[in-house]
Amino acid sequence: FLKIEKLQVKFGKDTVIDDLNLTIPENAITVFLGPSGSGKTTVLRSISGLNQNATGKILLDGQDISQLPVNKRNIGVIFQSYALFPNMTVFDNVAYGLRAKKVAKKEIIQRVKEMLSLVDLDKKANSYPDDLSGGQKQRVAIARSMIMKPKLLLLDEPLSALDAKIRVELRNQIRKYQQKLGITMIFVTHDQSEAMAIADNVVVISDGKIQQQGSPDEIYKKPSNEFMATFIGEHN
Ligand code: ATP
Repeated sequence: FLKIEKLQVKFGKDTVIDDLNLTIPENAITVFLGPSGSGKTTVLRSISGLNQNATGKILLDGQDISQLPVNKRNIGVIFQSYALFPNMTVFDNVAYGLRAKKVAKKEIIQRVKEMLSLVDLDKKANSYPDDLSGGQKQRVAIARSMIMKPKLLLLDEPLSALDAKIRVELRNQIRKYQQKLGITMIFVTHDQSEAMAIADNVVVISDGKIQQQGSPDEIYKKPSNEFMATFIGEHN
């Protein structure tokens, strides 16, 4: 569904990613797991078009998107910092993209209501971001992306700023949204238990290279090399 071919990223003289090839399945959650500085965010930014230093091919649903600008790729991005518009209500934050696309008013109201109900924020439609908890803010950010029906949703450490209990709750919610809407997601984390809990498919990245790709079960039970055996062993 998403195919990355020969991705290379250089920052100055440093080659951070060299000849990375990867295929990601549709309608599933793929997790990029790896230590800090391993290149996860760099790969994600290359997919979304935010990385100017990337070369190689990126095919999404059969279309080569590598030359398209960020806003033409049909990809949603969620960050650790929620990046909501502080001067807009929850409703207006979620409606923003549809208004920009000149969707009819009636349809906007209906779709925003459905989306707020899915993320369980119907009662907060008229609140402002400052009046929400961290978990609620992140749900608004997720709703704002999902309402645009992106082909692919990228989540870069979306739960890192939240406390442990909310983190577990929200990862279960994200799973639920994925199943309900059938969105293809890539979820970046350095937290192994989070990765194993949410993933259908895990891609372990270290030092800019893919060490292994497989189901959480395969990753645990059949580490493909010495790095993987140590990496999994350390966290058990
Ligand atoms: P983290 O979980 O800490 O965000 P990561 O696995 O996402 O780590 P990246 O942020 O992709 O790792 O970084 C990979 C490497 O690329 C690091 O060595 C980093 O220093 C380098 N790097 C990333 N962005 C830039 C940049 N804009 N300029 C120079 N080097 C960069």
